[in-house]
Amino acid sequence: MKVSDGVSLKTVIWSRYVVYAQAMLLIFRPQDIPSEGRDFEFELDTAQLNERVQKVREIADRESVAPPSYVFLASPKAAVKVTRRGTSVDIHGRLSGRFVTPCSRCAEDTEVGLDVPVDITLKKAVGKEDEQEDLELGYYIGDEIELQAVVEEFAVLALPFSVLCSPACKGLCPTCGANLNSEICGCAESEGDERFAVLRGLKIQ
Ligand SMILES: [Zn+2]
Ligand SMILES: [Zn+2]
Repeated sequence: MKVSDGVSLKTVIWSRYVVYAQAMLLIFRPQDIPSEGRDFEFELDTAQLNERVQKVREIADRESVAPPSYVFLASPKAAVKVTRRGTSVDIHGRLSGRFVTPCSRCAEDTEVGLDVPVDITLKKAVGKEDEQEDLELGYYIGDEIELQAVVEEFAVLALPFSVLCSPACKGLCPTCGANLNSEICGCAESEGDERFAVLRGLKIQ
């Protein structure tokens, strides 16, 4: 981190401490949640979230799905209420943020807003959970729940496979690769001429 004019080293250390303290507050034991539940409002660690998105992409890539890149912009926000039932907890709330991904037609970087519900019940893992994927039921291992990690999962799951910069995006020219939203390359016309030339060569019998 660059210590620029007006920002003392003390401020930098303090702000790092605040980030660290926040991360610690987001790790809790279910028995510490009061009976009325607890509200959490926090900003996700953007770098950590992007690292996770990248890991998921690498796994998908190995299975030859090759999703586009996604980069979350600063500090996605989460607001959730955590309630407890025995050793299980219910987490309900919302997550919002913005990310950048290439348009699936013209490849231009496109900024997209994300605002999704977070709804999950977490049960304590006892070691014989069935493997079935259930988006509304998860397990936590050990005694603590890491709220940031739980919410991050919802951000990753909400990423769309393809995004358009605009519904009217004209895409790229298949011949020369020009972005047809911003330039006219003329390939379509000359292609038309060639086809016409072939027609001209035909003899009508
Ligand atoms: Zn586009
Ligand atoms: Zn072209």
